[in-house]
Amino acid sequence: MANLDRRTGSFQDHPSPYACDPDSSRGRLYPEADCSSRDCFQRDRDRVIHSTAFRRLTHKTQVFLYHEGDHYRTRLTHTIEVAQVARAISRQLGLNEDLTEALALAHDLGHPPFGHAGERALQRAAKDHGGFDHNAQSLRVVTALERKYARFDGLNLTWETLEGLVKHNGPLLGAHSRDTLGALPAAIADYNRRHDLWLDRFASAEAQVAALADDIAYNSHDLDDGLRAGLIDEEALGDVPLVGQYFAALKAEYGDLSGSRLHYEINRRLITDLIVDVATESRHRLDRHRPADCDAVRMADAPVIAFSGHMAQELGELSVFLFAEVYRAPRVMAIMSQAEMMVAELFERYFDDTGLLPAGWRADIAPLADTERGPRIVDFVAGMTDRYAIEEHRRLFDCTPELISPGVHP
Ligand code: MG
Repeated sequence: MANLDRRTGSFQDHPSPYACDPDSSRGRLYPEADCSSRDCFQRDRDRVIHSTAFRRLTHKTQVFLYHEGDHYRTRLTHTIEVAQVARAISRQLGLNEDLTEALALAHDLGHPPFGHAGERALQRAAKDHGGFDHNAQSLRVVTALERKYARFDGLNLTWETLEGLVKHNGPLLGAHSRDTLGALPAAIADYNRRHDLWLDRFASAEAQVAALADDIAYNSHDLDDGLRAGLIDEEALGDVPLVGQYFAALKAEYGDLSGSRLHYEINRRLITDLIVDVATESRHRLDRHRPADCDAVRMADAPVIAFSGHMAQELGELSVFLFAEVYRAPRVMAIMSQAEMMVAELFERYFDDTGLLPAGWRADIAPLADTERGPRIVDFVAGMTDRYAIEEHRRLFDCTPELISPGVHP
């Protein structure tokens, strides 16, 4: 293992040969002059941070609604935790940390209000209007929906950031695609016709790191939030997959440790072990495969960044546990089914009467054919924060659910 250089904070003083090199970027769809103080991946990261969609993540749900408590993760703090984990892995492997960070920060920009409840509602509502996929929506946000620059719509990010954003979970076409999407989402197919993102190949190692950093972040912080919410019993922690060993060790060392100190001591051990596992397994894969450059990573037959088989299985068991105990907890489900209905009703109401949309959206939609209106209303609803969706529902309907579970007093 490379030694940590205390001066640069890096594990090696030169990038790995398979890291993405900003000087060899395939560039932007709309050519732009170089910046004197930042390379192209640093600019991409900064463009994401300064986007409107990024700020909206503050008021979008991760698992718990914002009014359920100030200490639960929001989609924004989730994103920041993903970026932290992604940078840590990227640095250990000598990858391009700026590209990794840009991808982590952008990965959930297309997430609708109310987390997966909002996503389910939009998938149903958009069935006859091109469908909805939050990953494809992230691409739409950064290539079309952000309206900030004089010369183009979107953020005009580099090819490497865009290909990483759409393929971080693997190729979307061809022999290596996981085929979970069904048809290629229209938003991705449309953009790909203008800017070929090599949809049948793997993404860069940086994008693969961002994808696993998402898994590490949400499994660990959803466990932490589940404990905070009282959905997971502290006394039962010894039986939780992967986590039981930390609980036993902490009990042996500290005896009566409980509450937030216990939760955090578990959380930090979990994050560290997952990061070390990915870095170790990926280093083995890279040593075996020896990709000559970043395109060799894309052309490989399998991902180069991965958990070990043993850890993948244990993490899978933890995910199943969290699904049952947290995401499907009656208290969470009660609120989310109300939220799902709210999103579905909003879509229908705007679709039936586009005059209810804000002026800018009305003007955009006015010249469109009837068949083109649906996808634009999906764009509008997907961009909403939880807070704005509730406000709009109150404006447009006589009765809006309180989104509070019985017995919970925010
Ligand atoms: Mg995420």
